[in-house]
Amino acid sequence: MHSWNHQGLYRNKRLILYFLSILLLSVLGCQEDAGKIKKHNVILIVIDTWRYDTLSLEINGMRVMPSANDFAKQNILFTNAFSQSPWTLPSFGTLFTSLYPSVHGAVRTGMLRGGKNFGILRDDTETLAGILKKNGFKTYAVACNNNLSPEFHINRGFDVYQIFRPEMKAMRLRADEAFQLGLSWIKKNGQKGNFFAMIHLFDPHLSYNPPQEFSGMFDPSYTGRYKDNFDEKPESVRENKILLNAQEKEHIRNLYNAEVAFCDREFGKFLRALNDLNLLQDSVLILTADHGEELWDHQSFEHGHTVYDELVHVPLVMHFPVERGIQGKEIKGCVGLIDLMPTILDFMGIPIPKNVQGRSILPYIMSDDKFKEEPLYCGSLLYGTEKISIRQGNYKYIRSVVEGGKDELYDLRQDPAEAKNIIDTEYPRKNILKLKLMAWYESNQKKAVNQKAVNLDKDTQERLKSLGYIQ
Ligand SMILES: [Zn+2]
Repeated sequence: MHSWNHQGLYRNKRLILYFLSILLLSVLGCQEDAGKIKKHNVILIVIDTWRYDTLSLEINGMRVMPSANDFAKQNILFTNAFSQSPWTLPSFGTLFTSLYPSVHGAVRTGMLRGGKNFGILRDDTETLAGILKKNGFKTYAVACNNNLSPEFHINRGFDVYQIFRPEMKAMRLRADEAFQLGLSWIKKNGQKGNFFAMIHLFDPHLSYNPPQEFSGMFDPSYTGRYKDNFDEKPESVRENKILLNAQEKEHIRNLYNAEVAFCDREFGKFLRALNDLNLLQDSVLILTADHGEELWDHQSFEHGHTVYDELVHVPLVMHFPVERGIQGKEIKGCVGLIDLMPTILDFMGIPIPKNVQGRSILPYIMSDDKFKEEPLYCGSLLYGTEKISIRQGNYKYIRSVVEGGKDELYDLRQDPAEAKNIIDTEYPRKNILKLKLMAWYESNQKKAVNQKAVNLDKDTQERLKSLGYIQ
């Protein structure tokens, strides 16, 4: 009608658009500030069957793990980290879901009757890989252990999951090969957006047959029957069907340490390769174990059969992006593998699922907040009748789940080797810990009602049998 009107309207439109765009930008800006997922890669290295004490062990003046030891000194070392089960499947299930094993379901089932069925990771649980994937991370894993095979749904959330079968020598992956596979995936995918890569090393697990250049490194003068290889069935050793003298046991410990030393050399190479790719300084890198190994600490052998510390005290080192300036810190408070998933998500700014049973320990990493101790529980054995434990303060209480089974109490400050059972002299403490432990056990039993058992196919049964997992 009137030209000025048109023009005015046009001008107004432009103004409205201008203000709208400012509004939109500021809304987007706010969202970016509030809910921004941090652009850091996550690299998780899990060494199977890796004892805590090897991290700082020296034999004949040689450090067994110089690379991991230096890495620990330069980053965040947890001196009291524990797995929630003493064998692979339940322990990984907990690491991936932040749920205790009986709740996530990937355990030996029928435990009270000594059953040997295996459960699968419940499909209604959220996994670390799944959550990171939903948030735009590419996800990758390389693993070498039948207990990590996709039959147990432990691979849920990984875009690429490379699994190797250790019972066939030709399919057994050594540390150098596992890192090579990991690196080649990272090289191909790591420069284009965020990724989560898990690299699992199998070497310290039986059999102990380190590469030639490592096998005699700690006792070159040994010439006995197990010189380069110890491959006896763990139950034969546990049940004394194979008799080993003190010298042989010492050599077997040295072979185990040599496997660990080999992993360490390869870990050092991997760190240098990441650094050369410019991918180390901005990444979160976590180095840990799924459980330890008994080398006659309690007159027995291998793992899966007790909840003593040689099996559940694990190394845990975390590296955070250099820009955050957190380096050279030692945290002595008790943490669990169960805490890893919430901690990683917390760091990334990703909401933590409400049902997790672990907690984010990020505040203790990022600041000097006083560590709040929480009880840590353990259980879900592979062999024998089920045992569960609670660790709180300086004490650990272990209870056999079967009626009439013995219970044990240790003062870990006085007796870190768990050699002197003080259950008879510390009744009041026993009762407090027992009540807590039983409440935890009962509540998990209730949460676990829907767990499914997997019927293993013949092939898998044979493979697990050949590794000594089932009889
Ligand atoms: Zn394992």
